Amino acid sequence: MSEVVKLERHDEIAIVTVDSPPVNALSAAVRRGIHECVKKAAADPAVKAIVLTCAGRTFIAGADITEFGKPPQPPALSEVISELENSPKPTIAAIHGTALGGGLETALGCHFRVAVKEAKLGLPEVKLGLLPGAGGTQRLPRAVGPELAVKMIVGGDPIGAAEALKHGLIEEIVEDRVQGGIAFARKVLAEKRPLRKLRDDDSKLKAARADRSIFTNAVAAVTKRARGLEAPFAAADAVGHSLDTPFDEALKKEREGFLKLMNGDQSKAQRYAFFAEREAAKVAGVPEGTKPRNVARVAIIGAGTMGGGIAMSFASAGIPVTLIEMSDEPLKRGLGIMQKNYEATAARGGIPADAPAKRMGLITGAVGLENVKDADLIIEAVFETMAVKKDVFTKLDQFAKPGAVLASNTSYLNINEIAAVTKRPQDVLGMHFFSPANVMKLCEIVRGAKTAPDALMTAVSIAKKIAKVPVVVGVCDGFVGNRMLAARSKQSEKFLFEGALPQQVDAVVTKFGLPMGPFAMGDLAGLDIGWRSRKDRGIKSEIADALCEAGRFGQKTGKGYYKYESGSRAPLSDPDVEKLIVDTCARLGLKRREISDDEILERMIYPMINEGARILDEGIAARPSDIDVVWLYGYGWPIYRGGPMHYADQVGLKHIADRLSYYAKATNDPSLEPAPLLKRLASEGKTFASLAAAKKAA
Ligand code: NAD
Repeated sequence: MSEVVKLERHDEIAIVTVDSPPVNALSAAVRRGIHECVKKAAADPAVKAIVLTCAGRTFIAGADITEFGKPPQPPALSEVISELENSPKPTIAAIHGTALGGGLETALGCHFRVAVKEAKLGLPEVKLGLLPGAGGTQRLPRAVGPELAVKMIVGGDPIGAAEALKHGLIEEIVEDRVQGGIAFARKVLAEKRPLRKLRDDDSKLKAARADRSIFTNAVAAVTKRARGLEAPFAAADAVGHSLDTPFDEALKKEREGFLKLMNGDQSKAQRYAFFAEREAAKVAGVPEGTKPRNVARVAIIGAGTMGGGIAMSFASAGIPVTLIEMSDEPLKRGLGIMQKNYEATAARGGIPADAPAKRMGLITGAVGLENVKDADLIIEAVFETMAVKKDVFTKLDQFAKPGAVLASNTSYLNINEIAAVTKRPQDVLGMHFFSPANVMKLCEIVRGAKTAPDALMTAVSIAKKIAKVPVVVGVCDGFVGNRMLAARSKQSEKFLFEGALPQQVDAVVTKFGLPMGPFAMGDLAGLDIGWRSRKDRGIKSEIADALCEAGRFGQKTGKGYYKYESGSRAPLSDPDVEKLIVDTCARLGLKRREISDDEILERMIYPMINEGARILDEGIAARPSDIDVVWLYGYGWPIYRGGPMHYADQVGLKHIADRLSYYAKATNDPSLEPAPLLKRLASEGKTFASLAAAKKAA
C-alpha cells in the first residue's frame, strides 16, 4: 500500500491511517493512499465498517498548498470523497488536532464523524483568497445549517468539538480517536444505522429555503469587513447554491468558483502573504541552534498609549508584567484605561467575563525604575526624545538584572546610540510595536550593531508568544515601516500645495484598500506631535503649521484636516480647511492645478516602493517579503494586494521606475528618482521576488 496511508483491520473494523507529517496535508500521495485503502477495505468481505484517522499531531489539516498552481495529479480530492461517501460500508472520520479545509471536506464525505474534545474543525480557505473546492460549500450547510456554514466558510473561522457536536457536525466526542472511532463504528453496526450521505440530506436547509433572509443576513454579518475582497463573496454565492441548485450542479459551480479564485490575483497575493509571514520568522545571520533566553517576567516603562497596549498584549498571553511610571497619576490613568479596554472587550463577548480581572491581576503597577530588577525583558515606551531615552537606559543599566533584554519601542531613534549609554549593548534592541499595541500584530525587532543573537531571538520568540508577527529589521531612521511612510507623507503634503485636498488624497488611498488615508491618519495620531518636532528641528510646513496654530490638532480637538462631530471618529470635509489651503497657496504664490486620481495613487504608492528598494539595498530588511509583512500587519495594507513589494512586481518594476523618473522631473523632486536597485531590476526586466529567490538559492 502507499507509504503515507496504511490499512489495518481490528476484527470487522478497517482503520485507514494517514501518516504524512507534519500535518497530514492532502498531497497527491495522501489522496491516492486514502482512495486505494478505502476501496480495498470496501471490497474486503471481512470488513464491516471503515474508520479514517490520522497519525501524528493532527487530522488532515488541509490541502498541500505547495501543489497549488502545478498541474493537478489524480486522484482529485472529490474522487476520494466520493469513494468515502458511496462506500457500501459505514465510513467514520475520527478527528484529532485540526480538520481544516480539504481535511474537513474529506471528513464530510464520511457517513459519520467523531472527534476528541480538543479538536478544531473549519473551512478557512477564504483566508487564502479561495473557497472550499471539494464539496465543502454544499456538505457543510447540510451538516450544520446555512447560518453556521456561512460563518465557517465565508468568515473562515473554525469551531471547536463542543460546538461541532451541538450543531451536528460530529456525532460524538471521544476520549481516544482510534478506540473511540472503532467503538462508534461498532455502535453504527449494532444499531444498523442508515448511512448518512450529507449530499442527500436537505433537512437543515428547509428553513433557509423557505426564508432566504436567514442566509442573506448571515452573509451580511460576516462580510461587513470584507471590503475589496473577492473570496468571501464568491464563497457566499457558493453556499447560496446549496439552497437553490441541485447538488451535482452546485458542486460544478463550486469548482468553477474555486478555479477562478485560484487563478486570480487576489488569491495569489493572499497565498504569497501566508508564505511571507512564515518566511519572516526565519531570522537571517543568527548561528544555528541559538536559543532564546528565558522570559518569565516583563517590565514595561511608560504607561501611556503604547506602554499600556504592550502590557495588555503580555497579560493577555498570561505573562506577568510590571508597569512602571514616573509618578502615581499617569500610572493610575494608564491602568484605568487598560481595565476599561478589557472590560469593553468582555462586554462585546470578545473575551470571557472573568478575563479582565485575571489579566489585570497579572499587571503590577509601580513607580520608579528600580522596579525593573526582576524582569527578564524590559521594554521602554517613554516619550520619543533621545535625551529621555538615554536617561532611562543609563538607569536601566544600573537596575536591570544581568542578561535581561533591554528593548526600546522607539518609532524612529537610533538603537545603537541608545545601546551605547549602557555597559551591555549586546542586550539592547528595538521592539517597535504599532498602535493600538494590544491589537496590531506587527512588531519590528530592531537589531543593533552589537545586539547578541540570543537577545535577538528572545525578542522574536516572545513576540510570537504574545501573538505578534515579528520582523527583524536594521537600524535606520524609522526602520522599515515608518521610513517608507515618510516617503509617502512627503508626497501627500506636497499635493496640498499643488492643488489636491485632504479628502481627495485620502479617498484614493482608501479606495486602493488601505484602512485610512494620510490625512485621516494624521488626525488620529495628533497633528501637534509633528508640529512640535518640526519646531524643535526648525522646519516649517505652512499648511500643517497653520492648522496647529488654529488649535486644530486632529481628532483630540475635534478638528484637524477634517472636522469631527462630537463623539464621532468619522472625518468630515471642512470648507474652512479648504479655504486655509487655498489661501496659503495664494499667499505663497503657488498656482493650484487639477490632480488626477491616477497621479495621486502613483505618487502615494510608488515612492514607498522606491524607499523599500533602498531599504533592501542597505540590508535594513532581509527580504522583500519582510517589507510586505511589515505593511500587512503594521499598516493594514490590503492582503489581496500582497504588500507593496509584491504589488510592485505585479505592476512591473519598469513601469514604476519610469513613472518615478517622470514625477521627479515634473514636480522637481529629486527624491522621486528611482533608487539604484529599482533601476537595475527594472532594466534587467526582473522582479523583487527574483531577488529573494536568487538570495535563497545562493
Ligand atoms: P505617551 O506620551 O502616551 O506615553 C509615554 C509615557 O511614558 C507617559 O505616560 C509618561 O509619563 C511616561 N514616562 C516618560 N518618562 C518616563 C520615565 N522616565 N519613567 C517612567 N515613565 C516615563 O507616548 P506613546 O505614544 O505611548 O509613545 C511611547 C513610545 O512609543 C515613543 O517612543 C513613541 O515613539 C513610540 N511609539 C508610539 C506609537 C504611537 O502610535 N503612539 C507607535 C509606535 C511607537
